[in-house]
Parts: sequence; structure tokens; C-alpha cells
Amino acid sequence: MTERKTIVLATKNKHKLAELQAVLANAGFDLRSAFEFADLQEVVEDGDTLEANALKKARYTFEMTGLPSLADDTGLEVDALGGAPGVYSARYAGENATYAQNVERLMFDLDRHERRQFQTVIRSARFRTVIAMVSDEGEHVFEGVCEGQITRNLRGEGGFGYDPVFLPKGHQQTFAEMDSTTKNAISHRGRAVQALLDFLT
Ligand code: IMP
Repeated sequence: MTERKTIVLATKNKHKLAELQAVLANAGFDLRSAFEFADLQEVVEDGDTLEANALKKARYTFEMTGLPSLADDTGLEVDALGGAPGVYSARYAGENATYAQNVERLMFDLDRHERRQFQTVIRSARFRTVIAMVSDEGEHVFEGVCEGQITRNLRGEGGFGYDPVFLPKGHQQTFAEMDSTTKNAISHRGRAVQALLDFLT
């Protein structure tokens, strides 16, 4: 029997851990949370890009554990807002903003932008996830993108974050209206994980 390889994921988010654990277990990997390891501090995400943040977290976790380490960062890029909130998606409405406050700020900014233009604007947007993997074999970065648009009203109760206002391209339901299996099959994170999996296997 071949030994299962351990990988550490730099996250406190139990949802992310469980989702990735299931996928990687099928591929023969044992995924552990960085927070099982004493002394690991939460890394400040102060990079200018998703890649910088993901690499910063994965490098730190690898330095501290000596085990292959994974970290991710996600942003929502809205074209009419010049790519905002992007790398600042988690704190768009302020440092400790809730998901609801971030969504409210996004809708407010889009409405204001539209009023300034004196016309309706195309609300095209995309989610982008970057996963970084750092091990003694080097550094690797994987990306997943999901194109779509921002709706005019909140729709759906599922998911989290900006899900109630994100309508993926080619679909009639927002991420918050979809079941998680359907979302994972087309989502930015799902695609980044698939790229990681292709690399690992
Ligand atoms: P994180 O890098 O995964 O922590 O994501 C940063 C922020 O992007 C989160 O706080 C959410 O607001 C948002 N976000 C990330 N992934 C998703 C998603 O799948 N749906 C909706 N919002 C998301």
C-alpha cells in the first residue's frame, strides 16, 4: 500500500477545509488544517494581489510545519468598478465588515456609478481564486476564474459572501440559488482546485 501524503491547508475556514479534504482524499492525500499545529499564527493578507496573499500564507505554513502547504485567496472583480473589490473583497465595507455589509457596499457603488453615467451599465464581473502550493519541490500557483454578472437584487439563501448577487455566465440562478454541488462544478474555487488536482495527480 502506498503511503498517503500529508498536505497542510492554511485556513481557519472549516467549510474550505472539508471541501478540499474530500477532493484530495479521493486522490490519496491527507489534508490537515494549519490550525492543528501549535505556534501557527494567522497571516495578515496585506498583499496587492491574490497571488501575493496566497503565496505569503503558503510560504509561512511551509516554513513552520516543513510539510507541503496550500493556501488560497479569492476576489470578485467588477468591470464597472475598475476591478474592485478584487483583492479587498473580504473587507470592502471596512476591516471587520460582514458579508451583508460588503454586498450592500457593492450594490451602492454600482448604483452610484450608474447614476453618474446617466445610463444602465453592464454589470459584468468575475470571481478569481488563486491557490498557492509551497513545498521542498518549490512554489506553484493555480488559478480558477468564473465569469458572470452582478444582479440588481439579492437572490437566494445559500452560499456565502457575494453569492446572492453573482449570476454565473450561462446560468439562470445566482450562486446563492444553486445547490453546492452545482456551484462547485463551475465555480472559481472549483476550477482552481481542479488545476491543483491535475498537478498533484
Ligand atoms: P477568501 O480569500 O476565500 O477568504 O475570500 C475573500 C472574500 O471573497 C470573502 O470574504 C467573500 O466575501 C468573497 N468570496 C470568496 N469566495 C466566494 C464565493 O465562492 N462566493 C461568494 N463570495 C466569495
